Amino acid sequence: MDNCIFCKIVAGTIPSKKVFEDEDLIVFHDINPAAPMHLLMVPREHIATLADSDDRHQALLGKMLRIAPKLAQEHGGGYQNGADGPTGGFKTLINTGPDGGQEVYHLHLHLMGGPRPWSGQR
Ligand code: AMP
Ligand code: ZN
Repeated sequence: MDNCIFCKIVAGTIPSKKVFEDEDLIVFHDINPAAPMHLLMVPREHIATLADSDDRHQALLGKMLRIAPKLAQEHGGGYQNGADGPTGGFKTLINTGPDGGQEVYHLHLHLMGGPRPWSGQR
């Protein structure tokens, strides 16, 4: 898509702080982070919204959720369930449409984590 900022990031014509890529998707730092760790997981294919995805995208959508914990672990948002109970953790978020707060119309999953002001840590 000619005018899509995330297609341009996928193509490399707009720079990004990339942390992961494979044949299906790329992951980079959000330019305006809302959390200590804020990554965006973006399919290489232009799919405008989650509502525009179809059965062909089932494995891709599953992969995005499956790699989230590992990426979070590598970037300061890891979740642990230790002997003293759960610590750390992250949020996964897909905004869809105007009422869902979507600003960029190329499907993406927000992966946010790290210590929070309200968590009582740091
Ligand atoms: P959404 O509101 O769910 O569509 O989220 C769009 C996200 O893209 C926002 O969190 C923006 O900060 C982020 N964003 C917009 N442009 C860029 C860019 N060039 N590089 C990295 N993140 C971006
Ligand atoms: Zn696009």
